[in-house]
Formats: sequence, C-alpha cells, structure tokens
Amino acid sequence: HANRFLQFELTRFGHNDRLLIAYDITRLQQLEQIRTDFVANVSHELRTPLTVLSGYLETLSDHQEDIPPRWGRALKQMQQQATRMTNLVNDLLLLSRLEGDSHKAEPKTVAMPPLLEQLRTEAQAYDPDKEHRIVVQAETEANLVGTEADLRSAFSNLVTNAIKYTPPRGEVVIRWYEDERNLYFSVKDSGIGIEARHIPRLTERFYRVDAARSSATGGTGLGLAIVKHVLLQHGATLNIDSAPGKGSTFSCVFPKAGPH
Ligand code: ADP
Repeated sequence: HANRFLQFELTRFGHNDRLLIAYDITRLQQLEQIRTDFVANVSHELRTPLTVLSGYLETLSDHQEDIPPRWGRALKQMQQQATRMTNLVNDLLLLSRLEGDSHKAEPKTVAMPPLLEQLRTEAQAYDPDKEHRIVVQAETEANLVGTEADLRSAFSNLVTNAIKYTPPRGEVVIRWYEDERNLYFSVKDSGIGIEARHIPRLTERFYRVDAARSSATGGTGLGLAIVKHVLLQHGATLNIDSAPGKGSTFSCVFPKAGPH
C-alpha cells in the first residue's frame, strides 16, 4: 500500500519452510516524525529569546564600570550559560535537519587541504592554556564529495572532543589518509580514554561517560550524535578505538565506492 511503511522479516525453519512476517510500522514512523518536528520547532522558537538575552548581556558587560563587582560574577555566569544554551539549540537544530528528509543538499567536492588547515587553527585556538601539541598529517591528496558545512561540523566535533578530554600538554593527531578501499579522517588523542562498555553508546544523544566532567568542559552531549548522522548522510561510518588512560582514536571511514 502506497501510504504505509512495512518491515519484513523472513525466517527459515525445517527443510523447505519459510515464514514471512510483515510488520506495519506506519504509526511508529509517524510518531518519529512528530518527535523530530517537535524538537526542531522548539529549538527554532528558542532562538529568538536567546538572541535577545545574549544581546542585552553583551551590552551590560560592555558597561562593566557601572556594575558593582559582586554582580560582575553573576553577569559572567549568565553569559556563559546563555552561550551554552545557544550551542545546545544550534546542535539540536542541526541534528533535526540531518535526520529530516529535507536535508538533501547537492553534494560537492570538498577540498581537504584548506579544511585540514582550518581544523588545525581551530584546535590551536580552542584551549591554548592546555599547551597541547597539535599535529596534522595529510597523507593523501584525495578530496571528499559531500556537504562541506556538515563535514566540517563533524570533524570539528572530533577535534574539540580530543582537546577537551586530554589533560594539559597532551598530543592530538589529525590524520587524512587512504587505503585501497577507504578514505579515512581520524583524530587521535593521548587523553583520558573511554571504558569499552561505554563505546557502543557514545553516539546516543546526551550520552556522557562522566556527566560532571563533560558539562564542566562545556559540551552539549550532542557532538557525537551529530558526527554519526553526518557520516550516515555520506555513506561513512565511525570507528572508536579507546581504552582508559591510553587515549582515543575516532576514525571516519569513507568507502571509495560509496556515495560521498
Ligand atoms: P560532549 O558535549 O559531552 O563532549 P559528545 O557527544 O561529543 O558530547 O561526546 C559524548 C561523550 O563521549 C563525552 O561526554 C565524553 O564522555 C566521551 N568522549 C567523547 N570524545 C572523547 C575523547 N576524545 N576522549 C574521551 N572521552 C570522549
């Protein structure tokens, strides 16, 4: 039926017998759509009040001399939280756009050398006090095909995570390379690492290994969910190799035969 979503399951038993079950998942699909639309609408509606709030906070902090010192700290906190909320709303909007059907931008060639340079600059500027060694290794001249802004968000999330979850004077290596079958974008850090039991759940929205530490680093908990969806859109997958105290490597694997 044209307007229904069906899911099939084929089971074999005995020598020649087969059982084909058709599940009608139309209602499930509709509910999923309602959920996605709802999140997108809420995020969108939150944008305007947040912009006004951040604007006035900015104006206030431009007049520091008129503000009693004991209010200065409160103002700073309000600004930090407003920024955090803005990041959250932007990430939620990006996620619902990535999930929705409307997201079918025309794929274009994405030049990797300038993108890698941007990532290097961003990595160096992200938390300079930590004095990390940032290494960029471009080992292939291949480029990607896809949506540049989305790929940049995904890669940038991996780079900033590497910095956030690596103690001072660590090392972050950004690598772009290939073998016969795939192109790889990987970010390796010498940071705290992740216990194996958490790894399969990391790309779930708001999943965090250590909630206290993660919110202190200012993340939204949506970074890896965004990475997963961007890669899905490009026919690519995410590999996570990590162990506590041994650092982590996040690799994006783009099959050469794939749609990217
Ligand atoms: P967050 O905004 O909390 O960083 P993410 O979706 O980007 O959210 O990451 C989810 C969780 O995965 C983080 O809270 C953190 O616990 C863990 N994580 C992500 N990247 C790393 C990394 N490079 N090293 C250690 N843990 C990481």
